[in-house]
Amino acid sequence: MQQETYDLVILGCGPAGLSAAINAIIRNKKVLVLGDEVCSPPLHKAQKIDNYLGLPDMSGAEILERFMQHALRMKVEIRPARAEMINDMDGSFSILSGDDVIEARSIVIATGIPYKPTLPRENEFLGKGLGYCATCDGPLYRDRDVLIISHSEEGEGEADFMAGICRKVYYLPLYRQEPNLDQRVEVLSGKPMEIIGNDFVEGCKLKDGQIINVEGIFVLGGETAPDRLIPGLILEDNHIVVNRQQETNLPGVFAAGDCTGAPYQVAKSVGEGQVAGLNAARYASRR
Ligand SMILES: Cc1cc2nc3c(=O)[nH]c(=O)nc-3n(C[C@H](O)[C@H](O)[C@H](O)COP(=O)(O)OP(=O)(O)OC[C@H]3O[C@@H](n4cnc5c(N)ncnc54)[C@H](O)[C@@H]3O)c2cc1C
Repeated sequence: MQQETYDLVILGCGPAGLSAAINAIIRNKKVLVLGDEVCSPPLHKAQKIDNYLGLPDMSGAEILERFMQHALRMKVEIRPARAEMINDMDGSFSILSGDDVIEARSIVIATGIPYKPTLPRENEFLGKGLGYCATCDGPLYRDRDVLIISHSEEGEGEADFMAGICRKVYYLPLYRQEPNLDQRVEVLSGKPMEIIGNDFVEGCKLKDGQIINVEGIFVLGGETAPDRLIPGLILEDNHIVVNRQQETNLPGVFAAGDCTGAPYQVAKSVGEGQVAGLNAARYASRR
């Protein structure tokens, strides 16, 4: 396990995150940006961007390449890794990312379009049979039946682990590849539509009307909602609430780009990223 300290850790290497990074680096701050291999999946998909000032007639991938070149020229450190959990350590932050724990004086969240729950009423059932980490909660479901809904192959390891604990494990992959699982796991197909239950999870209804009776449902591999990354963060309509300084309700935590709300646009993300980067740099200096 590596442990390092940065002035700013920026979650997301899309337009908002990179803009925050170069502005903080200009202020001589030690900056780390975390993100996916393709830094901005939405921008990468855009066939043509016509409304970004000064760079007309370019595809999203071309603009992204320009942004990346600029960031790399400014020696922005970009790590292809995700933040999984952030703890406020009374004035500094500790970010868990895979096997690494990264320390930061300030945080900029630039994680893009906000999390969309896979199932309606997920929040209502959170901790009452619904979870996002099967291996963490596994022992609570010993000898019970559970359903694992997974957006990626990474869920397969968790399903295999649960097969050794639970009475029955159902696995519903929301990706194309054929899952490779312990033979005790029953693979389902279809779309999950609703959680069945009153106070606690009792099952899940699929699109074809089939009801899977389980006491636990785990949704894995989807985007992580920002308020689950940092407990206590205030959201409104799924967006992070910020003021004009891009400050969130948590001191030292700033947010920029699509995650703060519409319009979901490159120019707005770059602008907010700049304000967040400068203010996070100032905050880190004061610490
Ligand atoms: C098809 C399409 C066409 C578009 N056309 C236009 C257009 O013409 N004009 C325009 O202005 N905009 C357009 N957009 C919108 C534009 O792409 C977005 O507004 C912009 O990319 C938002 O930037 P962002 O930095 O906020 O987020 P994103 O670009 O979404 O970047 C977010 C980053 O955060 C990372 N991330 C998420 N969670 C974590 C985590 N836990 N830890 C670390 N990293 C994380 C993601 O992997 C990603 O790298 C289009 C989008 C699409 C999909």
